Amino acid sequence: MEAWVSVAFLTEAAPSYGVAEDVAPGVRRLVAPNPGPMTYRGTNTWLLDGADGVTVIDPGPDSAPHVDAVVAATGGHVARILLTHTHSDHVGAAAALKAATGAPTLGFTRPQRQDFRPDHPIADGDTVAGLTALHTPGHASDHLCFAWRDGVIFTGDHVMSWNTSIVSPPDGDMGDYMHGLRRLLTRGEDTLYLGGHGPPLPEPHALVRAMLGHRMGRESAILATLGAEPIAPAAIVDALYAGLDSGLKRAAERTVLAHLLKLGAEGRAVGDDGLWKLA
Ligand SMILES: [Zn+2]
Repeated sequence: MEAWVSVAFLTEAAPSYGVAEDVAPGVRRLVAPNPGPMTYRGTNTWLLDGADGVTVIDPGPDSAPHVDAVVAATGGHVARILLTHTHSDHVGAAAALKAATGAPTLGFTRPQRQDFRPDHPIADGDTVAGLTALHTPGHASDHLCFAWRDGVIFTGDHVMSWNTSIVSPPDGDMGDYMHGLRRLLTRGEDTLYLGGHGPPLPEPHALVRAMLGHRMGRESAILATLGAEPIAPAAIVDALYAGLDSGLKRAAERTVLAHLLKLGAEGRAVGDDGLWKLA
């Protein structure tokens, strides 16, 4: 990990897959059985009790045992299926859960995925079942957070307790992502983040500030490698991440490119044919 990282992430033991756990009054968490280096213990499916049935936030990956577990935990009384974004580990189970329960799907008006259309498109500021949608692109262009009651906000993969988000162009946008972090900080009222992966995050603003500081530190370091001679993102990775495992190099290059595109949009760097220099 880079020297300028000082983000205090949370960890947790592997959950009992298939068993919904109480998290806060009226909210349960069901972790999907898709653990991995990008998904931690698995995708979090959130179950919110409501007068008209259960609202499901992020049905999870295409997994029959997981869909069965959601149906069992809700008694099949699902009122609606909300999506924070349409990456496959979040939307994969939507069709099967809809077929099993008859519940409609709701997601951002312009889904990033071509093969998914929400039954009810929602936009920034829309309110559904007591949840207010916040359009927070960056990790994904169609990403929504959902602000609930009692200071609870469902943050999807925009802010997670266990790790930083992947921001990979062209759909991922570093400028949007950092703007979205600042937007969450301007909301003074949130006290509990429930993200797409990892355990619940109390006192969330400290972690968001650290994440923002981490990105700003990396941006400064990238800017410092630029000069009058054009340089490739791969060379910046070699300069900044000494001894990086070759398997992680590609991901690091995507991140560096995301920062370069942000710097380019701000007129601080210029890119031409994949090579970058100071503006
Ligand atoms: Zn995810």
